[in-house]
Amino acid sequence: MPISHNVNDKLEKSSWIRKMFEEGLRMKQEHGAENVFDLSLGNPVVEPPKQVRQAIRSAANDTAPGLHRYMPNAGLNDVRNAIARSISVESNVKLTADHIVMVCGAAGGLNITLKTLLDPGEEVIVFSPFFVEYLFYAENHGGKTVIAPTHENFSLNFDTLREVLSPKTKAVIINSPNNPTGVIYSKKMLEKLASILHQHTSDTGNPVYLISDDPYKKIVFDGVETSNILELYENSIYITSHSKDLAIPGERIGYVAVNPKCSDGENLMSGLIFCNRVLGFVNAPALIQRAIKNIQSISVDAELYRKKRDFLYEELVRIGYSVVKPQGAFYFFPKSPVADEVMFVQKLAEKRVLVVPGRGFGTPGYFRISYCVPDQVLEGSVTGFKEAFNETS
Ligand code: PLP
Repeated sequence: MPISHNVNDKLEKSSWIRKMFEEGLRMKQEHGAENVFDLSLGNPVVEPPKQVRQAIRSAANDTAPGLHRYMPNAGLNDVRNAIARSISVESNVKLTADHIVMVCGAAGGLNITLKTLLDPGEEVIVFSPFFVEYLFYAENHGGKTVIAPTHENFSLNFDTLREVLSPKTKAVIINSPNNPTGVIYSKKMLEKLASILHQHTSDTGNPVYLISDDPYKKIVFDGVETSNILELYENSIYITSHSKDLAIPGERIGYVAVNPKCSDGENLMSGLIFCNRVLGFVNAPALIQRAIKNIQSISVDAELYRKKRDFLYEELVRIGYSVVKPQGAFYFFPKSPVADEVMFVQKLAEKRVLVVPGRGFGTPGYFRISYCVPDQVLEGSVTGFKEAFNETS
């Protein structure tokens, strides 16, 4: 076999999202794209705000010498300064360019962080349901993922967390607003999490790093307050991108911000910068770094997503689905009306509605709906949701 057994095994077992995507392509060929309601992918449907296009144009028109060359692996200094200023306001923690690394999306940020932190066999705790790539990213760098299930309403469960914390725990990853549930963790909940990790660090003498992966931070509804982890826990690393808030996932731009009070913070920063280089990212793309520098206060209009959430939430509840109302991001994570959610997802596919089984997020018995799709796709999906529910309940 030309490829490794490990990768081959992953290809066979992995990504339900990818499987549903491929199923979608097949169905669109068979039935016509307008007759398939594909709610499987988290690819933003809205176009980037006009300021993004203007900023890209103006960055591209700048003819000063050297703008397209290699740069320090952490990114352009003026861009890191601008990010530090905006994140300082957001978090009430004073950061400088020395705490920021520009990266290729949140995915790049997570990979350099885990590579920097992990020795072989060290553990990374994730809360289920989770963004499945966390498992692959931890494994990329020799780490072992340990899972702490959340409560029924997807809030953090501190009992399950305490059960899985061990002397080998190196990091905990949280994600709020959450993919796949849309849930946001309150400040009180994050404070409690911080105090447990603090206690664990004092008991074991090994710092636990709290990684907050927050690419959905600006897609928040109903005036819900969000808190930045940098304010609440010293050994924290904040990772975000403009994939969702500026709707430019294809441009691969984000950043990692390290808490100025982090244990061995300077060493950690040096590690992150080195790993950005040796994982082959080298540095985040120059043009898009310059473009996002002055538009840190801009984001897509979350109202567009809020309207889509309200529409589908009402329909799902009317049909009889049990679903937690999301407060951010652009996903629902309803309970499957039958225990075997893969069977139910297949039933929905027969109705030409594509969603992703919950086991793809470590939580069987549920399924994920992505509602970042055009309104006509959402509206068209309702009949399928109704028929599949009635035929199985
Ligand atoms: N983290 C979560 C929770 C996500 O949902 C995604 C993408 O969907 C990512 C990270 C990766 O984001 P990026 O495209 O910025 O790498």
